[in-house]
Amino acid sequence: MSEVLEVGISAELAEKIREHGVETYPYECCGALLGKELGATGRAESEAIGAGSSREIRSLHPLVNRRDDSPRNRFSVTAEDVREAEKAARAQGLDVIGWYHSHPDHPARPSDYDRDHAWPWYSYIIVSVHTGVPQDMTSWRLKDDRTGFLEEKISPMKVGVAS
Ligand SMILES: [Zn+2]
Repeated sequence: MSEVLEVGISAELAEKIREHGVETYPYECCGALLGKELGATGRAESEAIGAGSSREIRSLHPLVNRRDDSPRNRFSVTAEDVREAEKAARAQGLDVIGWYHSHPDHPARPSDYDRDHAWPWYSYIIVSVHTGVPQDMTSWRLKDDRTGFLEEKISPMKVGVAS
C-alpha cells in the first residue's frame, strides 16, 4: 500500500499530551484529538474519509480514565466520552479525529487490547511514559479489516496555523 497517513500537531499540543501522561502516571491518561481532516487539495473537508488523507490536530479534550479494574494498562473510551468529545469539538468548529493515551512503562506501540477496542478511521496517538518521564510519541490508524494498525506520520505544525 502506498497510502500516506499523516497527522499534524503543534509542539505545544504534543507537549500537553506528554504532560497529561506524566500527570496520571503510573496510570494511563486518555483524551480526544480535535481537529480537521484535510482533503487532497489541502482544504478542510470533514466528510473526507479514507486512504492517503492527512489531518491536523488543533485542540485536545482530556478524558477521565473510567476503568477502575485496570487503570494502569487499559484505556477505554465510552459512548459518553464520545458524546462529550464531539460536543467539545463542535463548540470549537472542529471534529473528533482521534484519541490519545499513554503507555506507562511500555513502548509507544498499540497493544492487542488497543486493537480490540479501536475503531477504523480515527488517529490513535500513544505516548510512552517511562518511570514518569515521557518518551516516544507515535500515531496509528486501525486497518479497515481491524487486523492491525498502520503507523501514521506525526508532522510538527506551527501554532496558530490558519485553516
Ligand atoms: Zn494502549
